Amino acid sequence: MQDIMKNMRLVGFLKILANLKVITGLHIGSGSSGITIGEVDNPVIKINGKPYIPGSSLKGKLRSLLEHSEKLEIDNKEGLHICNNENCDLCAVFGRPAEKKGKEGPTRIIFRDSYLNEEKSEKEARENGFLEIKWENRIHRLTGKVEVSLRDIERVLPGTVFDLEIIYRIYESDLDGKNIEEVKEIDNLPNKLKNRFGLIIKGLKLLEMDYLGGCGTRGYGKVKIENIVVELHTIDAIKKNKPVVLKNGSLSDLYESLQARI
Ligand SMILES: [Zn+2]
Repeated sequence: MQDIMKNMRLVGFLKILANLKVITGLHIGSGSSGITIGEVDNPVIKINGKPYIPGSSLKGKLRSLLEHSEKLEIDNKEGLHICNNENCDLCAVFGRPAEKKGKEGPTRIIFRDSYLNEEKSEKEARENGFLEIKWENRIHRLTGKVEVSLRDIERVLPGTVFDLEIIYRIYESDLDGKNIEEVKEIDNLPNKLKNRFGLIIKGLKLLEMDYLGGCGTRGYGKVKIENIVVELHTIDAIKKNKPVVLKNGSLSDLYESLQARI
């Protein structure tokens, strides 16, 4: 018991900062009801009138892409992969329901909500308020006839940029007995931590090939991750307010540095 408690000691954080750029119209629905006349049928989720990306949307999407790519078993009832294997990296990183919590303890990953970066967004998106309305015709499957505009869908315009922040909580059990304070480069990360952190980077890479939000198979939601920075905030670095920058560049570079996993 004492060993488990010791392994559960929080020793620091890995912080990913990046920009998420919208390439094709993005729709993350607000699911709001009570539409009044003049409002769009399917609005995007907003905060203070501006679109944002909830951390839960990003987490759900990455988890689902990784579950499929890692060939993990999916629980039919939950529609998720959940297991009791204490060595399962995906469950350690993304978490398990309370009743299935294993030795690996707390969920490692935190997805912050991503807010608009107006300055980095392209001029055209900025000048149009970052939003557009797309009218979707519905085609009758039997007659092949186009029915009159049945719904309008709000989308975030291409060229819009959001600020991404993802935190990985480092526990002693991620370190293979190594001292996190000695890590100065991404290549020095202990293997277990590298593998687990690598999952997130793999997820972001898969996201670029896939889509975010709704209607992706109809062309919505292509995104690109840019200007990625990885900082290591060990407990010592937090005291001194001096994180170690492990990487600063493109997602492809980072992906390559973590090749061990991928
Ligand atoms: Zn698992």
